[in-house]
Amino acid sequence: MNEVSVLVIGAGQAGLSAAYHLRRVGFVPWRDFLVLDHSPAPGGAWQFRWPTLTYGRVHGMHALPGMELTGADPDRPSSEVIGEYFASYESTFELPIRRPVDVRAVRKEREVRRGLLRVETDVGVWHTRALINATGTWDRPFWPRVPGQSRFSGSQWHTSRYPGPEVFRGRRVVVVGGGTSAVQHLLEISEVAAETAWVTRRPPEFRAGPFDSELGRAAVARVEERVREGLPPRSVVSVTGLPMTEAMRAARARGVLVRRPMFERVTAEGVRWPDGSAFAADAIVWATGFRPAIGHLAPLGLREPGGGVRLEGTRSVRDPRVHLVGYGPSASTIGANRAGRAAVVRVRSSRASLRQGHPGRDRRGAGADRPVRPVDGAALQYRRTPRPHLRRESHDTTELSRATHKENVQMDLITNLLAGVIHFVGWLV
Ligand SMILES: Cc1cc2nc3c(=O)[nH]c(=O)nc-3n(C[C@H](O)[C@H](O)[C@H](O)COP(=O)(O)OP(=O)(O)OC[C@H]3O[C@@H](n4cnc5c(N)ncnc54)[C@H](O)[C@@H]3O)c2cc1C
Repeated sequence: MNEVSVLVIGAGQAGLSAAYHLRRVGFVPWRDFLVLDHSPAPGGAWQFRWPTLTYGRVHGMHALPGMELTGADPDRPSSEVIGEYFASYESTFELPIRRPVDVRAVRKEREVRRGLLRVETDVGVWHTRALINATGTWDRPFWPRVPGQSRFSGSQWHTSRYPGPEVFRGRRVVVVGGGTSAVQHLLEISEVAAETAWVTRRPPEFRAGPFDSELGRAAVARVEERVREGLPPRSVVSVTGLPMTEAMRAARARGVLVRRPMFERVTAEGVRWPDGSAFAADAIVWATGFRPAIGHLAPLGLREPGGGVRLEGTRSVRDPRVHLVGYGPSASTIGANRAGRAAVVRVRSSRASLRQGHPGRDRRGAGADRPVRPVDGAALQYRRTPRPHLRRESHDTTELSRATHKENVQMDLITNLLAGVIHFVGWLV
């Protein structure tokens, strides 16, 4: 019988953080909790990022809890560097990850196992008392619908399958999107393409100065507010503006970073605007963002009429057994870390439901709150971090919750943005 106290879906930053904290508070890997991930290898969405997104070009990658990533070669693709780091993390902390396992649907069990959640996958069914959903957005790229799109004779790409600039050498390319991914694609494609056109729905707002905490707080608070209201989370970039870099200034000087409004239709030969002007194109790159990949949760009916999932912290208001981490305001590496921890604190404190199942005690007995010990032989370039929050903490859940709440309200609202992660959160245009 496949039954666990807690099931985590997704082994990206958010899922690994949750798994780390589950172990840390005493849930026994494989027996009490399990992580299911449908990707072929460790790395979450990072393993799929395009080859020219080198580690040095990643902004604000926050280390997973308990282990720093140090000394990585900034010229190596981030997919490799972070993939290896995640792999080392998983083995260091002996996290119970099964892959590839595709979760197809999560339902309320109504009959014999009433009270449990039924998790249906391509390899079988699991039952769980609590679910931490950490499925990110990468698997749900957003392609806007534009008349004529299917008749285009050239190639169309989305950020999720962007192959790097070489494919566009000598071509005429339209890049659609107002976020940092779009700008990154545009800048590197423009180095090799015959000509580029940059199209955004709204005029981009470039931001020259650095983020201060007030700006950061206001921006994330606006995303949080939408989630609280049960609306789909929007682009953080849409409320912060695009940070103007040296490379962008140079691109603007050579006439590349000149925005055109959204075209009205795609034709066989290119794109056309309402005033009749046109751009003949060989390729269109849609850097139009992502949506939360939560289709498998549909049978639970978590969505509000506004289309979003209303959360209280990380917990679904409609089904308190379900937590969403890496969703909305926690869709950044530091936000995912903290959401993973917050979800575990809540799951653990739901004593009533957990008591009915496994006690959640570490096989090694008492001391469930001790820091997780890495196994011997961890790769050298990864350093375990003696962070304050990894020290032995109070067993008092209220105290822990208070600390977590403070972190959610303050750290996630401020540090996230200061780290620059907002560049990349995917709901753009
Ligand atoms: C192009 C781009 C660049 C970014 N750069 C940065 C950056 O520099 N700094 C930063 O802080 N943030 C960045 N972000 C945001 C960042 O990716 C996220 O904040 C964070 O890494 C996401 O972690 P996650 O665990 O929520 O999701 P993911 O990393 O997407 O992990 C989700 C996991 O869930 C699995 N999964 C999904 N659906 C299922 C299913 N049905 N069944 C089983 N498994 C499933 C996937 O296989 C995947 O392994 C970037 C985002 C994008 C799109």
